[in-house]
Amino acid sequence: MELLNQAPQHLPHTNCRKGSYIHIARDDLQRRDLFKPAQYLRSHLDQLPLFRLRTQATSYIPSHLHLTNDHTYTPYNQRYCPSCLPIQIVCNEPHTFLHCSHSSPLSHPAILSITRALRRYDLCSWSSHILLQQTVIFLGSSPPKLLLKHNKAWTHSTSTTCTQLIYSLQSHFSKHQPSASPGPVLSLI
Ligand SMILES: [Zn+2]
Repeated sequence: MELLNQAPQHLPHTNCRKGSYIHIARDDLQRRDLFKPAQYLRSHLDQLPLFRLRTQATSYIPSHLHLTNDHTYTPYNQRYCPSCLPIQIVCNEPHTFLHCSHSSPLSHPAILSITRALRRYDLCSWSSHILLQQTVIFLGSSPPKLLLKHNKAWTHSTSTTCTQLIYSLQSHFSKHQPSASPGPVLSLI
């Protein structure tokens, strides 16, 4: 919770721990129904890709890896994007989805689809959302200002988009970082 108090109101620095999921999910953690499972878990859709990403259980986003393949610990601010090296940029969700010139083009179909969904619900445009809000939407949460009564319908109409984005990222990283797998075997059962 300490990180919550430290979280700044502006965009996170990409080279510090404030880009971690606790920061990304800050608004989600303040929802009134916090002790209800997140809406994406209450749908019948394919939940595992979002679950892995939201619990930081992937091996293709370096900021998720507590230990490297040789079991050494890398400080958070040195978990660099391998695609962007020698430029040293912490590789977390916002970088992977929206900034990295190697992986962010994969987000374009999802952006188009979410742009249409935002229009359907009469919400602000995609580009008017800040980086963290865009990241949170990719992670299956509702956009800010969506009416509570539309949460379920939003999840229903965008989950497949988010899941497809994650699958295309997995496939991209498995080609470019052969050691990257979707993550440890998990079971929701
Ligand atoms: Zn990169």
